[in-house]
Amino acid sequence: MPAGATQSQDDSQAPLPKGVVLDKDGKPCRTCTSVSSWLAMTKQSKGNTTSSSSTPTTTSQAPSPRPDCPPDVEALGRSTWTLLHSMAATYPETASTQQQADMGGFLKLFSKLYPCWVCADDFQAWMAHPSGQNKPKLKGRKEFGWWMCEAHNEVNRKLGKKEFDCRLWEERWRTGWKD
Ligand code: FAD
Repeated sequence: MPAGATQSQDDSQAPLPKGVVLDKDGKPCRTCTSVSSWLAMTKQSKGNTTSSSSTPTTTSQAPSPRPDCPPDVEALGRSTWTLLHSMAATYPETASTQQQADMGGFLKLFSKLYPCWVCADDFQAWMAHPSGQNKPKLKGRKEFGWWMCEAHNEVNRKLGKKEFDCRLWEERWRTGWKD
């Protein structure tokens, strides 16, 4: 579940299944919630309460969703990282002042507008770390690609995932594997 998200519930309703994140209007946020938690919630709201609402529903328990459903937090994340790393992979080797300003502006807006609001809040906070150490590094492709890898690793750590070896970012996202 996105870190920093608060799970709350309407007093008149059963507790929401674990992992369901609410939007700022108090309604469940689909792009902040995994598909397994979302399905557990819809199952619960249809009155089928065979599984405990406090037990996270694993993907293996949940029916396969249609492939043309709105994205959950994971599908949205995978597609977005593909876009972001591809932007780094096609960034100029040496960026002009204008290109650096354009990418800086994009990242600023992106971090405000990303459709999973808890993800966006954490990403903004990471970029704005008081030390200044996480500010986008935009002088050229190598340092921007490395910075993007570190940004992704920050989220990987938060979610308890394995860190990616940033020495390999170009093989993963630009040149293809050497083997
Ligand atoms: P992903 O993490 O989506 O990675 C896709 C592929 O990128 C991997 O298969 C791997 O080949 C490669 N990769 C992995 N790490 C790196 C790296 N460091 N550098 C280069 N390549 C790499 N989800 C939440 O639940 N909570 C959050 O708070 C949250 N915040 C997010 C913030 C942002 C800005 C974005 C874009 C996504 C966020 N997500 C969040 C989604 C999350 O990061 C994953 O995309 C999602 O969990 C799916 O993960 P995955 O294991 O399929 O692979």
